[in-house]
Amino acid sequence: MIIVWTILAAVLGVIVGSFVNVVVFRTKTDEAFWKGRSKCRTCEVPISPIDLVPVLSYFALKGRCRSCSATIEWQYPAVELITGVMFGVLFARAALGIGVPDWIDGSEWLALFVRDAVMSVFLLIIFVYDFKYSYILDRFSIPAIILAIVFNLALGADAINLLLGGLFIGGFFAFQFLVSSGKWVGGGDIRMGMLMGFLLGVSNGVLALFLSYILGAIFGIILILTKKRKLDSQVPFGTFMAAATLITMILGPYMLEWYLGFFS
Ligand SMILES: [Zn+2]
Repeated sequence: MIIVWTILAAVLGVIVGSFVNVVVFRTKTDEAFWKGRSKCRTCEVPISPIDLVPVLSYFALKGRCRSCSATIEWQYPAVELITGVMFGVLFARAALGIGVPDWIDGSEWLALFVRDAVMSVFLLIIFVYDFKYSYILDRFSIPAIILAIVFNLALGADAINLLLGGLFIGGFFAFQFLVSSGKWVGGGDIRMGMLMGFLLGVSNGVLALFLSYILGAIFGIILILTKKRKLDSQVPFGTFMAAATLITMILGPYMLEWYLGFFS
């Protein structure tokens, strides 16, 4: 039975993923999410419902617009697929009780899935937006911080631990912001640090912070090796923070155990 529900969760994720795309593009062009049919971004012909099926339409159309043959960005199916896989994994993890934070009661697994699903959507929007446009928008990060606090407190998290996490990791970036007059990090990084702490607590939050730097370093090395970017070019750090937060939200307890294993 869990397999069936996991597949349904994945299908829901694919549908939510196409909403994530709409949010990212329409935020950039300042359109309302809920108004009007989606249009081709090149020829502006409205897209017919048959061509709006997540993932499948992209492959049926071979990645090109039906009216003008303009290339459809690979971001569309990629985000839909990633969201689908993510929802499936999050559901299975909650239902099977794998790597669940120790302060969450096992009987609250469905609430845990709802928390994880909602937070992962925010993190994915932040990830994609920062990757494409190098900007962490407050309209995504601030609601995400508030939701993380509400979900965690409702699920029985230790309020002091969350507060310490949010203030410590947010403070880590706020300090750099002040020392460098905003040259090293931006205000968006401070909010992302707070999100890490308020969502994950102190120990897992710090873990996610480390992981962001590791992911950033790996990505930077790959870019240099493949000569895609020069050394001095900026890779948006919010992208790595969002990815690290998501990975730690799912695997944090295991990562901490593995890491601490080196010292015992
Ligand atoms: Zn077109």
